[in-house]
Amino acid sequence: FLMAHKYERFDFIDIDPFGSPVYFLNSAMHAIKQSGGVLGITATDTGSLAGIYPKACFRRYGIISERTSFIHELGVRNLIATVFREASKYECTVRPLFSYNQIHYDRAFIQVMGGRKTTNRDLENIGFIKYCRKCERRSSIPVFETYDERCECGERTMILGLTWIGRIADVDFLDKITNEKQEIAYDKDAFRLVPSSYSEYAVSEPYYSIAALTRVFKKESKKTSVILERLRDSGYKAYSTHFFGQGIKTNAPYNDVVKAVFG
Ligand SMILES: [Zn+2]
Repeated sequence: FLMAHKYERFDFIDIDPFGSPVYFLNSAMHAIKQSGGVLGITATDTGSLAGIYPKACFRRYGIISERTSFIHELGVRNLIATVFREASKYECTVRPLFSYNQIHYDRAFIQVMGGRKTTNRDLENIGFIKYCRKCERRSSIPVFETYDERCECGERTMILGLTWIGRIADVDFLDKITNEKQEIAYDKDAFRLVPSSYSEYAVSEPYYSIAALTRVFKKESKKTSVILERLRDSGYKAYSTHFFGQGIKTNAPYNDVVKAVFG
């Protein structure tokens, strides 16, 4: 049905299936306005998407993904990457406006925009996450770049991807709708999803789990509020995250994160 609508494209399409949205993405790409249309996408197969079931994740999404200490964020990143790859077949790119994880689902609002040049430029947002299970070091490697499979600690790392390594929300967009929310008499439900604090989206690096670092170093960690303050005092961005109660989003390098967590 949607594919038949060649000349009447939609500004907004919401894909909210039971399970994986992957079966509907191609039709949605044919039906969405490729000059700024927005796709709302829900996935309830969070275990597959986040790599808890690596084989299911690869079958469905073509992404190598395994259990990490940042599974909730990885699932959302894999979802955005899947939409980008569908869009890029048609020389379209994506701009994630807002995305988040809840216990039973991942959800993303993604703007689709056309143009081979911008799509090629946005390939820098696609890449691998190199992750060391032994010490929790991680880094993002844009596609086409070379990398060393060994971790600084000597361990062989996990290479996860291809996934979305760029921003998973547009902070300017969230600012704008939050301001509008204050200016107009609004339907509360329409803004229900926008969190009161979305600063965490200013950081692209996957969150650190304090519990996971505690397991690695076998030391007691400082309180989350103290860790955040220390990182900020050192000049880094540092926020708590909706993804995980014991998680911190920061752009600080690994050694400085460890220093802030344990003192
Ligand atoms: Zn390591």
